[in-house]
Amino acid sequence: MKELFGIIGNPIAHSLSPLIQNEAYALHEINAHFQAFHVEHEDIETAIKGMKAIGIKGFMVTVPFKAKVIPFLDEVDPIAEKKKAVNVVQLIDGKYVGFNFDGEACLKALLEDMNRPSLQKEHILILGAGGAAQSIYYTLSQFEDVHIDLANRTLEKAEALKELGANHRHTKVISLDEAENNQDQYDIIIQTTSIGMWPDVGQSPINITQLKKGAFVSDIIYNPAETQILKQARRNGANTQNGIKMLASQNALSIEKWTGQKVNYQKMIESLTEALR
Ligand code: NAP
Repeated sequence: MKELFGIIGNPIAHSLSPLIQNEAYALHEINAHFQAFHVEHEDIETAIKGMKAIGIKGFMVTVPFKAKVIPFLDEVDPIAEKKKAVNVVQLIDGKYVGFNFDGEACLKALLEDMNRPSLQKEHILILGAGGAAQSIYYTLSQFEDVHIDLANRTLEKAEALKELGANHRHTKVISLDEAENNQDQYDIIIQTTSIGMWPDVGQSPINITQLKKGAFVSDIIYNPAETQILKQARRNGANTQNGIKMLASQNALSIEKWTGQKVNYQKMIESLTEALR
């Protein structure tokens, strides 16, 4: 009998995880099927109980349930606990355990495209302080020597985010205006707000006019493939990256967690790129 894995969210019909997960199962001869489940807000507890009852060994969690799912899990990994968000759940010894791979997936994608083994002393700007930024900031704050500026429309949220990396000595909260004015100081800019996402494709959280030479700009949005900020960054000579690799990386990490099988992550990137074209 095939194992069943899935993703819960609302809305969920647009999710590309079923496409790339099922392709990966076929490619690596994993005897499983991946299904998207639309869950109503008030039904989250019932949905989790039902998934356990029918023996689902693992599932992904997306908007709006990344935080809301936590009270209904048996355990949460310390990193996901700190980030207050779960995006992958695994059944371990009869218990649903929550994990968060957003930060790890973003870092992996970043290092791969920057062609570096690690981060060291870079000046990094993170735009946004929402769910994804939490996870990404927490992961980056593990690098003691990097300098991280957190810029968000709502400064209180950026201040709260800074608390997540409590021991990080070089984190500063700044406004979006300051980020725009200081843009030539950053080696890496990571755009994590929802600004620029389809259909509001002409918008950008900051106007890119003069970047540091050799700057790398990453936008975790994957639809459109090139957001306004990436377009401006490319025209200003920066190397850029969209959110497709991060999305593929998260799916690959979840399959590895559930089945122990390392999957062809490049094939996932190709399928996502094609599907989003
Ligand atoms: P979220 O928790 O809702 O956070 C949204 C962020 O965008 C907040 O910082 C918010 O600022 C800011 N924002 C929204 N509208 C704004 C506006 N008009 N002006 C200024 N700031 C605005 O969302 P999330 O879960 O972090 O997701 C953010 C984006 O990342 C989405 O586009 C999502 O698709 C993408 N994402 C991609 C991946 C991937 O694998 N590639 C993974 C996760 C998320 P305030 O705090 O001021 O409201």
